[in-house]
Amino acid sequence: MLSNRASKIKPSPTLAIDAKAKAMKAEGVDIVSFGVGEPDFDTPDNIKEAAIKAIRDGFTKYTPVGGIDPLKDAIIEKFRKDNNLNYMRDEIIVSCGAKHSLYNIAQALFGPGDEVLIPSPYWVSYPEQVVLNDAIPVFVKTYETDSFIVKPEAIESHITKKTKALILNSPSNPTGLTYNKKTLERIAEIVLKHNLYVISDEIYEKLLYDGVLHFSIASLGNDIKNKTIVVNGLSKAYAMTGWRIGYAAGPKEIIKAMTNIQSQSTSNPTSIAQKAAIEAITGPQDFINIMFAEFDVRRKFLINELNSIHGISCLTPTGAFYAFPNTSRLYSKSIDNRKISSSSDLALYLLERANVALVHGEAFGDDNYIRLSYAIPIDEIKKGVERIREAIGKLK
Ligand code: PMP
Ligand code: GLU
Repeated sequence: MLSNRASKIKPSPTLAIDAKAKAMKAEGVDIVSFGVGEPDFDTPDNIKEAAIKAIRDGFTKYTPVGGIDPLKDAIIEKFRKDNNLNYMRDEIIVSCGAKHSLYNIAQALFGPGDEVLIPSPYWVSYPEQVVLNDAIPVFVKTYETDSFIVKPEAIESHITKKTKALILNSPSNPTGLTYNKKTLERIAEIVLKHNLYVISDEIYEKLLYDGVLHFSIASLGNDIKNKTIVVNGLSKAYAMTGWRIGYAAGPKEIIKAMTNIQSQSTSNPTSIAQKAAIEAITGPQDFINIMFAEFDVRRKFLINELNSIHGISCLTPTGAFYAFPNTSRLYSKSIDNRKISSSSDLALYLLERANVALVHGEAFGDDNYIRLSYAIPIDEIKKGVERIREAIGKLK
């Protein structure tokens, strides 16, 4: 008999779609996968070499649970340089991916009955991690007409005596949109007034387009910094999804609790990957610009193409590598007695009939949309959109 907790939890839909697309590929099906958010670029050689050297040097033993000091120092310097934030070593934890840092935060902060505000659409793991701790996700709906940016007053109207924290994600997965400094200042005021915590997931901070700048809400003053846990990681910026290195920075009592939890679950993140992470953060950064320039070309192409498909409209994302088109105008249509009435129906139709994998918006809390990751080669994007155009053209 499974625990109550296990029966409440859903598997990650983004990873599930990726697994399905990969399985179809392995069977020889020519799938175009806009499914998972994972850079198609290889991890840069200097980073790989650092890991190989770590193995050769025998750096293959347990390390301190929350990460080795040289890596914490590299992260501290990154926060100082990129975000104008100053932390001490005991305010930093390195985990097995940003998802693991987020999980540790949820374990350290949330308990039965606590309410956690999550602007919706949201990234898939936020509500599930809240639920895993018997706390309650409270969704604050955002709208396409506001570029999916949560209205500060909407946050305030959802606050109750039980509200413990707000989860922010900018640049956002799945919408690809970004919060500006002014909105963050208003949100910070509300958070401080109601004595909440902010969990600020900034994993896409290096992927910004059209001259948009990234601001960490924690950098807006000491009071808000003391209530914020910033989460970041190497998966996206350095094409290191498989290495499993993420980190968090925040008040030392929270970091200590997270480290205790980590000490009883995974122990340290992989020793070799930690050495690679130091090289990633402190070594040459040109790779990010090369990858980013390519993502920008893909972004412009994909958004243009999506908007030229009858029945689809898509905002231009300013960050990350996701397009989040509105597909709701297609939901009254059908083909061969098969009715398309939701984002799941559409995603399944496109997978089965057009061999295109993407994620239904419902997985992110909004059925009116679908999500496409453009972290795939431009030729694949071209092939994929033509298949989508043709399949959608057949709907009556
Ligand atoms: N936050 C967001 C918004 C993400 O899209 C991802 C991607 N998986 C993560 C956190 C976690 O990344 P990772 O665990 O690979 O560091
Ligand atoms: N964050 C990526 C995505 O949203 C990776 C999948 C996951 O970690 O769930 O596709």
